[in-house]
Amino acid sequence: MESTDARTAPAVIVAIDGPSGTGKSSTSKAVAAQLGLSYLDTGAQYRAITWWMVNNGIDIADPSSIADAAGKPDIVSGTDPAAPAITVDGTDVAGPIRTQEVTSKVSAVSAVPEVRARITELQRSIASAAVQGIVVEGRDIGTTVLPDADLKIFLTASPEARAARRSGELKGADVAATREALIKRDTADSTRKTSPLAKAADAVEVDTSDLTLQQVIECVVTLVEEKRAAK
Ligand code: C5P
Repeated sequence: MESTDARTAPAVIVAIDGPSGTGKSSTSKAVAAQLGLSYLDTGAQYRAITWWMVNNGIDIADPSSIADAAGKPDIVSGTDPAAPAITVDGTDVAGPIRTQEVTSKVSAVSAVPEVRARITELQRSIASAAVQGIVVEGRDIGTTVLPDADLKIFLTASPEARAARRSGELKGADVAATREALIKRDTADSTRKTSPLAKAADAVEVDTSDLTLQQVIECVVTLVEEKRAAK
């Protein structure tokens, strides 16, 4: 199918959800770049607020301390898929939000309703400002943040495939340990009370276990183009 010219195509909102290690970020960035859409990594926002909590001595084990501080950090996300950027109070935190410490604490912070309310508001305002449309990746985008998205994708993969991918990204990390950490985080994200990781009833599920990244990108690009053509 021929690509629609991004400047003349109708704006399209794409929600891509799923657990970690399913290829969400790589797919979302590539699809946005290929179709001239903006891109938002909502996991980076939850990581950024977690980084701020850790650096400001907030007790992560105490949800009420997290709730009280939720409104304090100023989080700004870039939306260029070629150069995803994120700052907290003007500091570039793209590197520090990927540390093991932040990764191990983010599920506890993101489960606090006040944190979700704050970040969800930010996400909706970014999506509504994206003139050409946007690809938003996360856990609750299709169910809660943008329930009226034009297209909802839910990416899945076997725990083995996900752990192998994450270990590759972390350059040789132990696959068994990575698998345990992933399962722990997904269980926490899927069982929290406020907007858990879940597939929206109208989402298209794509199992990426046996697909290459390029195949997943092509599949999603085709689905977006079909939606745009029908608008
Ligand atoms: O996608 P990533 O692994 O960077 O997400 C980090 C964490 O942020 C997730 O484990 C989850 O706790 C939280 N998150 C969320 N809702 C989203 C995106 C991420 O709760 N929409």
